[in-house]
Amino acid sequence: MTLHIETPLIASSAMGGKNGQTVWLKMEALQPSGSFKLRGIGHACEEYARRGAKRFISSSGGNAGLAVACAGRQLGVPVVVVAPETTSERARELMRREQAEVFVHGASFTEANALALSMVGERDAFIHPFDDPLLWTGHATMIDEVAHAGVTPDAVVLSVGGGGLMCGVIEGLRRNGWDKVPVIAVETDGADSLAQSIEADTRIELPRIASIATSLGARQVAQAAFDWTHKHPMNSMVVSDQAAVAACIRFMDEHRVVVEPACGASLAVVYAGHPELAGFRNLLVIVCGGVTATVAQLQDWERTLAAS
Ligand SMILES: *Cc1c(COP(=O)(O)O)cnc(C)c1O
Repeated sequence: MTLHIETPLIASSAMGGKNGQTVWLKMEALQPSGSFKLRGIGHACEEYARRGAKRFISSSGGNAGLAVACAGRQLGVPVVVVAPETTSERARELMRREQAEVFVHGASFTEANALALSMVGERDAFIHPFDDPLLWTGHATMIDEVAHAGVTPDAVVLSVGGGGLMCGVIEGLRRNGWDKVPVIAVETDGADSLAQSIEADTRIELPRIASIATSLGARQVAQAAFDWTHKHPMNSMVVSDQAAVAACIRFMDEHRVVVEPACGASLAVVYAGHPELAGFRNLLVIVCGGVTATVAQLQDWERTLAAS
């Protein structure tokens, strides 16, 4: 038994069909925690529990914190989440519903993370949101499921925050013999730490995050994610917040599933029909999900971004 579920793989008639292209959606939004993060975090939590951890500590007020809460509840291990003040009341409530103890501390992730780290005792495990090889091995199972379904992608579209999802998908591609299948790595403008690192050919740190796609808001990507840009075929793309939100709304209408702008970014490049994607017969899109945006919030962003 795993803490995550096997998710549907859907050939989207709404998104595919152009130039004989099939668009395959890997529906990670349907994980019990609402995002793909449960795969890697579930795997890491199981491993840390096996090594004797008696408590899990996270400093994410978003989908990572929620996945730790969900994993801890299923394993019967107590969870502490130190979330920054910017964390919405709704996100706090979702984590508490999963029986996590939620402390709110600090103006940003930096302060919350410092307090969380200071709380880590000998019998605790700190669960990083993206930079841990155990996470990547867990995320890789989504590609195993695609292989078992008998689908061979010729490119994978995914969103990049700190790059944990990307490391996991590449690990999955390679362990299924798909070393040459390129990854289209998508970020929003203002959270484009990978795109700027590729451009500079060094792992840069953004001075601040200037995007509503908060789940992509890692100021610096993991070293392993940056290293893959030299070892695996890759294409980096950046979309606007407005395009990401528009994609969320369109996806909601077409597929009846609510996702965050962090996920909408990936959907946006497919909806835009980028010429670079036109040549792929079987395009796999990781619908990474996310629970931090409500329908009302998406509609609100749509209005304010259109006005600006
Ligand atoms: C965490 C997250 C991402 C980014 O994942 P990384 O592993 O940080 O690159 C993208 N979308 C959603 C919904 C997320 O929760």
